[in-house]
Amino acid sequence: MRTAIIGGGIAGLAAAYEMEKARTAGEAVEYTLFEARERLGGCLNSEIVDGVVLERGPDSFLSEKPAASELCRELGLGPDLMPSNDAERKTYIVVRNRLVPLPDGLMFLVPTKLIPTAISRLFSPMTKARMALELLHPPRRNGDQDESVAALVERHFGVEAVDRLADPLLSGIYGGDASQLSARTVLPRLVEMESQYGSLTRGMLAAHRQMRARAAAQGNGHAKGPSLAEANGTIRSQGNGRPAPRGIFTTLRGGLQQLIDALEARLEPSSVRRSTPVCALDKVEGGWQVTSGGATEFYDAVIVASPAWAAGVLLGAVVPALGEELGGIPYSSSITVNLVYDEAKLGTLPDGFGFLVPASEGRSMLACTFVHRKFAGRTPPGKAVLRAFLGGMRNEALLTEPDATLVATVCRELSEILGGGVLGLNVKPEHAQVSRWRRAMAQYAVGHQERKQRIADRVATLPGLRLAGNAYDGIGIPDCIRLGRQAARELAALGSSLPVSTR
Ligand SMILES: Cc1cc2nc3c(=O)[nH]c(=O)nc-3n(C[C@H](O)[C@H](O)[C@H](O)COP(=O)(O)OP(=O)(O)OC[C@H]3O[C@@H](n4cnc5c(N)ncnc54)[C@H](O)[C@@H]3O)c2cc1C
Repeated sequence: MRTAIIGGGIAGLAAAYEMEKARTAGEAVEYTLFEARERLGGCLNSEIVDGVVLERGPDSFLSEKPAASELCRELGLGPDLMPSNDAERKTYIVVRNRLVPLPDGLMFLVPTKLIPTAISRLFSPMTKARMALELLHPPRRNGDQDESVAALVERHFGVEAVDRLADPLLSGIYGGDASQLSARTVLPRLVEMESQYGSLTRGMLAAHRQMRARAAAQGNGHAKGPSLAEANGTIRSQGNGRPAPRGIFTTLRGGLQQLIDALEARLEPSSVRRSTPVCALDKVEGGWQVTSGGATEFYDAVIVASPAWAAGVLLGAVVPALGEELGGIPYSSSITVNLVYDEAKLGTLPDGFGFLVPASEGRSMLACTFVHRKFAGRTPPGKAVLRAFLGGMRNEALLTEPDATLVATVCRELSEILGGGVLGLNVKPEHAQVSRWRRAMAQYAVGHQERKQRIADRVATLPGLRLAGNAYDGIGIPDCIRLGRQAARELAALGSSLPVSTR
């Protein structure tokens, strides 16, 4: 059974690793991993500069989704797994150039503590009144129809909650726009809570009580409110938390590149083709023809782990309607700017992990992480790393700006936002690194679940085809790993069930 894996990002690498395991276990499988670029890893890309770990793409993964930590342990990277420094976890929202902390008790988008919400400077008195009255919110009519995250949040908490909470939190995760993203996909637990309780606050409090009861029954006194993954299946609560038993986020001591290097080291070198884009796919009797580098080869099965827009081009030639569905999944582009400073010259930063910038502030930056605080031990003493995130659905034009302009923009905005002796305009970073991510993050737009089903139905008619990657069932690293491995396991199982003569 020969499988072509198209795309060497984390989803394709996870699939190849699973195939390699089956092969070394003696199963009759062979695979070829095709990657268009010279390097493997896709969005995961880090380097160490003067002892500082700099992540160009993702910096960590959600601890609650086990697929990534499990894979790291399997690869022998267990000792290098490290949690986020949650004692320092505090996130700010920029409101008219000032940093305002998210109020305590905020469980993702839902305020659950009266007093911290009442005294927070994040919301106007009108929004606070609305948040209190939300306890009386009735269940939604036509509740089975998808809507945007912005519509869901606005119905419950008003437009200011969209502007100051939903939009910046989602921009920081998806580079997305709350008025486009699907509530059923991005916030499934909140949608369920609404149908059961009407009020999201009551739903969240009930979930909190259930968790505490479960934790008490298991003798774990540390239980907090529903976490990000628990609260909505996709994103994590950003409230000011007391120290959790483990970090909300997990990373690798030497950067996420460690995971890519470890995966690559496990693969059979002759099965990996870098700088080899697949330019055509064809469904033929009993399998697939894969064209790359001027040659066409036959494979029994194919895992397409490229972004959906690239998958759409390849599969559109096989089934045009499938190509259209895949091509219809929107993607956002983003930019990360890592700035390394001498901490003594920088001045004192506010406590916490960093801040998010609402679109209404009219800035280029969407978010900034104080990297040396979020992960202790990846930055040498005396250095500070600020990582800005720019672009997103509303600001794709920034991608064409030169590096120097982007660095100057970030430095100016940091100085304006942090002000007060921190980051005066004369403080120059010792090192600046700009990374552009074009059409890298799938956007789960309203109707995504239905689109996903239509895609699954079409794929089911094409024997030996599997899709993996961030466009389908979770944008984060753990979900991409889960889908990649699952696709490979399914195909390997299929291969071993074939009569020997047809393998
Ligand atoms: C800036 C940024 C920050 C992020 N932060 C986080 C985070 O902190 N935590 C988290 O969990 N997630 C984060 N994400 C999301 C996560 O990193 C991605 O969703 C995930 O890495 C995508 O993996 P993938 O394998 O699906 O796709 P990709 O990484 O996009 O890989 C797809 C690969 O397919 C290749 N390809 C395309 N077409 C072809 C072809 N025709 N032939 C051969 N190869 C092809 C591409 O070159 C690419 O290497 C972030 C993403 C970005 C961009």
